[in-house]
Amino acid sequence: MANLPRALENLVAELGKLPGVGRRSAERMAFGLLAAPHERAEALARAASELHQRVGTCDVCGYYTEDGVCPICSDANREDQVLCVVEDSLDVIAFERSASFRGRYHVLGGVLSPLKGVTPDDLNIASLRQRISDPQITEIILATSPSVEGDATAIYLADVLAREGLAITRIGRGVPVGGSLELIDGGTLRMALEGRRSV
Ligand SMILES: [Zn+2]
Repeated sequence: MANLPRALENLVAELGKLPGVGRRSAERMAFGLLAAPHERAEALARAASELHQRVGTCDVCGYYTEDGVCPICSDANREDQVLCVVEDSLDVIAFERSASFRGRYHVLGGVLSPLKGVTPDDLNIASLRQRISDPQITEIILATSPSVEGDATAIYLADVLAREGLAITRIGRGVPVGGSLELIDGGTLRMALEGRRSV
């Protein structure tokens, strides 16, 4: 492998740590940035450095936001009765893109995993239990991924969230086993949502 100048190699190495970016893609991006006017690289650096300063999580649902409460939670036109529980903020984007859901979300921040040491205390479950104590909420859709850990998390949640008058459903078939929701096309996700069943 040809030796790269150190600054270029540093950038390739950093880009290569991003999800879904392999060595070759990282090289293409870094070379592209070097070939572009220097303002482009500076804008990228600025955007990256502002990220953690500006973006936090919604006080209500856990989705990413720059305000205390995210635009979805503060949207008066959405249905309050249905809550869709997802693993992370990317899943919210997938559902929003599919335009198949008009209720509210709750972002867990991961799934239960005994192997990785993720326990209920590590996820946004306490805030979820508090939210569903609101009798206005009549259905919880468990939309964790159809993996072993996603299924186990759904089963756990179905157990701890059960209360009178609350339907607990799981998204249906069409989502590939072990698949990640964010990678599924909108039509499939819509079908999975429509095919949800009681847990
Ligand atoms: Zn929110």
